[in-house]
Amino acid sequence: MNIHEYQAKQLFKSFGIAAPQGEMVTTAEDAVLATQDIPGNIWVVKAQVHAGGRGKVGGVKLAKNTDEVKQYASDMLGSRLVTKQTGTEGLPIESVLIEKTYPIKHEFYLSVLVDRATERVMFISSVAGGMDIEEVAEQSPEKIITLLINPAAGLQSYQCRQVAFDLSLQGVQIRALEKIMRGMYCLLLEKDASQIEINPLVETDDGELLALDAKINFDDNSVALHSDIADLRDEGQEDEKENKAQEFDLNYITLDGTIGCMVNGAGLAMATMDLVKLKGGSPANFLDVGGGTTPEKVCEAFKLILSDKNVKAVLVNIFGGIVQCDVIAKGILTAVDEVHVQVPVVVRLEGTNAEKGRELLNNSSFGVVAADNLASAAEQVVELASNEGKGA
Ligand code: GDP
Ligand code: MN
Repeated sequence: MNIHEYQAKQLFKSFGIAAPQGEMVTTAEDAVLATQDIPGNIWVVKAQVHAGGRGKVGGVKLAKNTDEVKQYASDMLGSRLVTKQTGTEGLPIESVLIEKTYPIKHEFYLSVLVDRATERVMFISSVAGGMDIEEVAEQSPEKIITLLINPAAGLQSYQCRQVAFDLSLQGVQIRALEKIMRGMYCLLLEKDASQIEINPLVETDDGELLALDAKINFDDNSVALHSDIADLRDEGQEDEKENKAQEFDLNYITLDGTIGCMVNGAGLAMATMDLVKLKGGSPANFLDVGGGTTPEKVCEAFKLILSDKNVKAVLVNIFGGIVQCDVIAKGILTAVDEVHVQVPVVVRLEGTNAEKGRELLNNSSFGVVAADNLASAAEQVVELASNEGKGA
């Protein structure tokens, strides 16, 4: 689960991580009012969306007076921000953060995360922080420094000093960095975050270290254990279809292709997507309806798939082990009837009562294509999808 920058900065403050003074607002009028509480005569107006890359697309603006604060806030609020991390539809800007600005001497990168490969907590730092960190990582990977924490020993002072030296920090800044790193480490462990990123961590002209940006990602499986974190959830920033799927206990992930896939079992879903790709198509989603699926779930899954307007054809691939194929076939037919499916549907049923299931589909009036093996099902659905695409 992701949270907003302003929420992350509030958590930062409670863990002793210095961040600029600021206020979250939802109207342009409140944006102007907020400047009265924030010292200085330049403010930064920051779009609050669950994505990075805002600076490059006008989601972070420096306002030189309150008129500009008002202008930028009203431009942003109610619009959608498309960054390279959001996909083409972008995310809605429902709040902005008004912050104090600082003359910046240097921008660093600092993050902490759970590294699966080493099974350790890892800090990543770079002297070359800021908006081009991805290019730095690609073109000069030697500028990205990693540090692994031994879970039994915890974060050690000498490790923080090492990072400080790598970033060429001096004097009181070394202590200041240790305080920030300790705050990040405690926050990660205490709140079950999977990643905390500060980019940029800045050195101001006064030599102060501040978290100018803040991104925190929490392990979805742990959020239920932390009601304070659960309260920070903003469903308006999440994929509507994925949330709907969760309600019905379906594993669904939106993808950008044209073939809707409905499969039972995650492994079979992967194999199905692979086969669709192999036959020249591209999946519109990953969807695992579960091993013991019911006709009701199949129906909900259909609705989900069809709510994606990119879907040109649907491939149903169900293996009837726990669940019987004729039951699934009935579910499919109910769904096709209820949601007025307009696109071709190819179904491959295998397992218990497969024959019966296929018969039900073949005898129905909906023109569902019952394929007898997966390869031919994939081939047919790819062809049907490309025909639909041409017709549209
Ligand atoms: P992101 O692009 O979504 O990661 O948004 P950031 O919060 O990192 O902001 C992008 C860039 O805007 C930063 O790298 C800074 O260069 C700049 N920026 C953000 N806040 C301030 C500020 O208070 N003062 C100044 N001078 N620049 C800022
Ligand atoms: Mn940033």
